[in-house]
Amino acid sequence: MKKIAGYYNYSGAVHIHTTESDGTKPIEEVIAIGKSAGLDFMMFADHMTLSNRENGHEGIYDKMLVVIGYEHNDEADTHHYLLFESPKVYPNEMTAKEYVKAGADDNALGILAHPDEIRNSLKDYPPYPWHDWTAEGYQGIELWNQMSEWMEKLTHMNKLQMSLSPRKSMVGPTDRILKKWDELNMTKKIVGIAGVDAHEFPVKIGPITIKIFPYKVHFRCLRTHVLLPDKMSSDLEIAKKQLYSAIRDCRCYISNIRWGNADKFEFYAENSMEKVISGGQLSTAKESRLVAKLPSKATLKLVHNGDYILESETANFEYSQLQSGIYRVEAWKGNRGWIFSNHIKIL
Ligand SMILES: [Zn+2]
Ligand SMILES: [Zn+2]
Repeated sequence: MKKIAGYYNYSGAVHIHTTESDGTKPIEEVIAIGKSAGLDFMMFADHMTLSNRENGHEGIYDKMLVVIGYEHNDEADTHHYLLFESPKVYPNEMTAKEYVKAGADDNALGILAHPDEIRNSLKDYPPYPWHDWTAEGYQGIELWNQMSEWMEKLTHMNKLQMSLSPRKSMVGPTDRILKKWDELNMTKKIVGIAGVDAHEFPVKIGPITIKIFPYKVHFRCLRTHVLLPDKMSSDLEIAKKQLYSAIRDCRCYISNIRWGNADKFEFYAENSMEKVISGGQLSTAKESRLVAKLPSKATLKLVHNGDYILESETANFEYSQLQSGIYRVEAWKGNRGWIFSNHIKIL
C-alpha cells in the first residue's frame, strides 16, 4: 500500500446487517463476502444487539478489519442511530436525545442513519428519517445510504430496470441532506459517511421474488474511505482506534466504485506553512490554495459554505481565490455521483 498525499487510504463498507437482526446471512458468511469484494474494513450494525461483538467476531481477518456496533431504533421506531464502541445496547425506551447523549457520555461513535429517508413504493418498508435535529452528541451522518436511495427512486415503472442494475441506479446523496450537512458543519465538525445498509432483502417484483442487493453487490458499490497517517495496525485494538479516530476527525470521503476505483483521490489545502486534508483547517486564506486530484477526469464541483461556486471538467483541480469558511468537493461522472469529500476549513 502506497501513501497518497501523506496518508494511507482504506476503503470499507459501513452499516451491515446479519441474521442477528434483519439481515439474511450470518456474520461469518458476510465477512467472507466482504473479503472477496476487496474491502479493507467492515462495520457491522445489527438492530438493537451487540451479539456478534459479544461472540468474538470483531477481529482482523487476513488484513481486513471487522468492527461491530449496533443500530439503535427507539420504541416508536422514529429514529435510527449507528453506535460503535458503546459499552452496551441502550434501553429501547430512551428518546433520541437521551440515547445520543448516552452514547456521547460513553465516548461511543454515533452516526445518524439514513436521516432523510423517503419511501413511496414499498408498503412493507416504511421510511425512518431522523426527526430530532436538536439532539446533541452525534459525530456523523450517513450522507448516502444505498438502500434508502434505491427505495426512494423506485416506482412501479422502473422497478424491473432498477432491480437488474441496482448499482447503476445510484445517483448521489440528496440535495436535502447535503444542504443540511453543510449547515451543520458551519458550526461543528460532523463527518459524512456512506452506509450500505446491507440486508440482502428479498423483494417481490410481480410474481417473482429476487434479492436486489446481495451482499456482494452492496460491497462493490458505496465505499467509505478513511485516511490514516500510519498503516493500519495488525493489532485489533490499535486498528479500531485508527479507524474510529479517522471517522471522528472527518479524514474520510465516500465513493461509488461502480464509476471507478477512488483510492487515489486527493483533496487538500495548503500554503507555504501548512498542509491539511479534510477534517483539517488552514489558519489563513492568504496565499493558500485548494487542490483536488481525481483518479480520472470527471465533473468536479466546488462547494463553499454550502454554495456551489465552481464546476470544472478535470482530473487536476486547483483553486486559489480562497475565503474563510468550509470547502468540500464532489466528482461526478455525467449525472452520477462518484466521489464526495468531507470539509476543509479555512479560518
Ligand atoms: Zn435503519
Ligand atoms: Zn440498517
